[in-house]
Amino acid sequence: MIDRSTERDSDRWIRPLPDRVVNKIAAGEVIERPAAVVKELVENALDAGADRIDITIEKSGVKQIRVVDNGCGIPEEQVQVAFGRHATSKISGFDDLESLSSYGFRGEALPSVASVSRLRMVSRPSSQTSGTEIIYEGGVLQSCQPAPSAVGTTVEAADLFYNTPARRKFLKTETTEARHISRLSTALAIGRYDVGFSLKMNGRVIFSLPSGQTLADRVATLLGSGRKFLSFSTDLGPVAIEGCIGTPDVVQNNRNGQYLFINGRYIFAPMLSHAFAAGYGELLVPGSFPIGALLLKIDPAEIDVNVHPSKTEVKMTQDRPIHDAVVTAIREALRHDGVIADFDSAGPTTAEGRQSFQPSRPAPGGHVIPGIGSQAGSSAQFLDELYRSSKTETTEPSDARLVTVNTETGEIVEATGHSEMPVSGDAEGPSGGYRLAGRFSDLYLLLQAGDDLYIVDQHTAHERVLYEETVRRIDEQTMSAQSILFPVQVELSPEQSALFESATEVFGRSGFVVAPFGGRMVNIEAVPSMMSGKSPEKMLLSVLDDIASLRKSGHDLLKAMAQSIACRAAVMAGDRLGDEEAVHLIDRLLQCDDKYSCPHGRPTFIKISREDLDRRFGRA
Ligand code: ADP
Ligand code: MG
Repeated sequence: MIDRSTERDSDRWIRPLPDRVVNKIAAGEVIERPAAVVKELVENALDAGADRIDITIEKSGVKQIRVVDNGCGIPEEQVQVAFGRHATSKISGFDDLESLSSYGFRGEALPSVASVSRLRMVSRPSSQTSGTEIIYEGGVLQSCQPAPSAVGTTVEAADLFYNTPARRKFLKTETTEARHISRLSTALAIGRYDVGFSLKMNGRVIFSLPSGQTLADRVATLLGSGRKFLSFSTDLGPVAIEGCIGTPDVVQNNRNGQYLFINGRYIFAPMLSHAFAAGYGELLVPGSFPIGALLLKIDPAEIDVNVHPSKTEVKMTQDRPIHDAVVTAIREALRHDGVIADFDSAGPTTAEGRQSFQPSRPAPGGHVIPGIGSQAGSSAQFLDELYRSSKTETTEPSDARLVTVNTETGEIVEATGHSEMPVSGDAEGPSGGYRLAGRFSDLYLLLQAGDDLYIVDQHTAHERVLYEETVRRIDEQTMSAQSILFPVQVELSPEQSALFESATEVFGRSGFVVAPFGGRMVNIEAVPSMMSGKSPEKMLLSVLDDIASLRKSGHDLLKAMAQSIACRAAVMAGDRLGDEEAVHLIDRLLQCDDKYSCPHGRPTFIKISREDLDRRFGRA
């Protein structure tokens, strides 16, 4: 029990919180992280009709964020008003939300940012010959006075969250915050491709884009690096769509390359991401995602952007028709470009033998993954294969390795390995020797050890082996690099560029020799030896994408790097391993610290005991 005997009534007076406190509380919602400040300031600049916006970031935005625009500016007598809570020039009543055409409307951004930083704004409308400078510290007005200025507005927010230590603590690493900022800036620049934009981070120009570009120009500059995009523009009743999308061969293994907008607002909408992929249908390899930008225009009365203060979520009254419209638009674009022909040849043909184009009807739970249709037959096939490979005779050569020869073809079909692993009680791997009994689908290696049958996934097994080796070598600084005879240049996206910049040291330790080559171009001079023989540029880009996803799910940079290199360098399903290679791989797997699963957590092998089989055949 709380002792209330000394409490006076006045201690519990209900009274409104001071504005400074309210603003700081609101800042918690509006300003989640430095990128949110960039978003709010740039949106204000866009609302002010600017056609040139320059963003400058120091130290992931925590040290300083500066946004300069050439928009309409704020008249002297209004400058202080703009920092009032819920003060806005954009709407005057709730009904205005039905026809909203501005980014802002809540009047919360300026007071929120001012309450958690040291903020300086200089603004001048064209009707004035000089501007006004206003300074706030932690929400407290310091000064407001005339100052020389070009037409437009400059806002500088420094020492973000300096007075909210809890929030500051929740910020992710600099790399993560920098990535959020570059991604968001990229999105803002794509969403308003007509406006000139530049982004400078820690003194380096990440992009600098002229005003008056087309969507295609802008997407090619920001997501390009030699990739091929298709542009389209269509009006399908409930929604008009302008798109610039990658061809199916420029996919990524995450959704980072997708930029979605509704009425110019960059949004997060799983429903639209789904439609984006569904439009490509079976052209996509499972686990890959298309890249590009989709700009949707929907009647503002049909959507609600007032779901969350950050305004990145949108509620739609009719999301199904919009989903289907996006799918149709993408299919039409792919078909128009002739890409869809490949798509159809894999699908059913009509009675006349002509290839059919089915308008989309994606299944509610997601689209069909090709090639995984009939899992029922696989164990039967597996046993069949087992049976066929047993039509062999075993001989015992002098080095005590068992080699089995197919008596019909004379081909060596089996080799035997030796594990030097000590036998531990619960170790489930084959210990004390095994026989490579065959292969299945150029993916699984079948081993017999004693009375047990082991099925090894060659890819996950190799991944595990390479992962442990890479972690150790990066740590010991002994990763070997393979120089490239003719170095290749590749242009990174702003997001990749920011990530690369912050991880340069780890890339170096991992065997990548990659040097800046002006702007976002880099010159690849060497790759980790494990990756030699693969396209260096593809390897670098894949590793960057992998790291971005892994970092998002909280992995440490070094481990993420090792995991990506291992995955990209490992033998793939469909690569046929020689017998010696297979045995060597299994021997190495058995010496791993964690031989049971790959770094992503998928199993490296499964065991089927003689008893299991007997039981299933009704012999028990
Ligand atoms: P909102 O954008 O929701 O109206 P803000 O707090 O972001 O609220 O801004 C408050 C007001 O300050 C805006 O409505 C606008 O009138 C003015 N303002 C803010 N930034 C700018 C800018 N860069 N140029 C011109 N006016 C601005
Ligand atoms: Mg605003």
